[in-house]
Amino acid sequence: MPGDGIGPEVTAAGRRVLQAIAARFNHRFEFEVQKIGGTAIDATGTPLPEATIASCERSSAVLLGAVGGPKWSDPNAPIRPEQGLLQLRALLGVYANLRPVKVIPELAAASPLKAEILAGVDLLIIRELTGGIYFGAKTRTTDSASDLCVYTVPEVERIVRIAADLAGRRQGRLCSVDKANVLETSRLWRDVTNRVMHDEFPEIELETLLVDAAAMHLLSRPADFDVLVTENMFGDILTDEASMLAGSIGMLPSASLGASSRGLFEPIHGSAPDIAGRGIANPCGMISSTAMLLRYSLKLDDEADLVEQAILHAIVAGARTADLVRDGDKTLSTGEMTDEIIKFLK
Ligand code: NAD
Repeated sequence: MPGDGIGPEVTAAGRRVLQAIAARFNHRFEFEVQKIGGTAIDATGTPLPEATIASCERSSAVLLGAVGGPKWSDPNAPIRPEQGLLQLRALLGVYANLRPVKVIPELAAASPLKAEILAGVDLLIIRELTGGIYFGAKTRTTDSASDLCVYTVPEVERIVRIAADLAGRRQGRLCSVDKANVLETSRLWRDVTNRVMHDEFPEIELETLLVDAAAMHLLSRPADFDVLVTENMFGDILTDEASMLAGSIGMLPSASLGASSRGLFEPIHGSAPDIAGRGIANPCGMISSTAMLLRYSLKLDDEADLVEQAILHAIVAGARTADLVRDGDKTLSTGEMTDEIIKFLK
């Protein structure tokens, strides 16, 4: 689903990479292209048309560009592109959003942080995706508004189990982020996390941080983290902050997973209306998302590793889109950057 803004530009890059992988490994991928977000509202009046839902339901994996843009952003509009995305996540039952952040040393100069702070950063943020304040009941009168934040014990148990399991396959350290000094949902989150970790994952080292402190530690000691797990809104905010470690929001992928193997894969950036239609968007976050698609939905680990290596090789060889260039670097278009990455897939 290309979606809006730069969505179609980066999704085309992701598709080219999947086709290159198919050619290299002798696979055959079948693609269906469907509308979501603002373009779907324009064409059908709804941000998640029936045809899109049916297509997602018969697919092995869902690849998404981005939704939204100024044309549809009136806060009082009854139908908004983001509703399509929230609906899709709920429909696919994808409750765990995995957002890896790895610093490529060659891109350290593109980050606002000092290179010595960035050395060795390789963390994975796991954001709960279908609960919390984004999905709670909302009210609005002329002089007040409210958004309800709700978490249940099973919702916290299942996300903590995924996070602990992934920590066990990495460096064995998990940091749970909450706001237990103020919020009741966070006190529940902390109690459940402590119990699950104590009873089921005694070998994993558990650290707990308040979200305000976590926001600071992510910038002051990012290399100390392995896996972080947190609720929906905290994860939304912390992952955008963490994207600055990698140099550009255009670098970062995400995978949203649930009980089945069918995941939703999308770069973490939005539709970037300020650069849409110019062919200059960084496709790396989308291409990394295709690596996650290969790994988590199609169980093609070697293919996923190759895509990630190809991005790394292209960057090390000097390939840069506009968001990554520094003095003297040549600036590549979205298509040229994709060409450079595909060279390393052959
Ligand atoms: P954004 O991520 O679209 O853009 C933020 C900044 O990062 C912009 O300056 C943009 O040019 C730059 N940027 C983003 N992706 C880039 C890339 N691949 N290459 C180079 N530069 C890139 O966030 P925003 O401006 O806050 O939101 C724009 C629209 O996107 C809004 O309508 C918002 O609701 C929507 N949005 C959608 C998603 C999604 O579809 N998952 C996520 C976030 C925002």
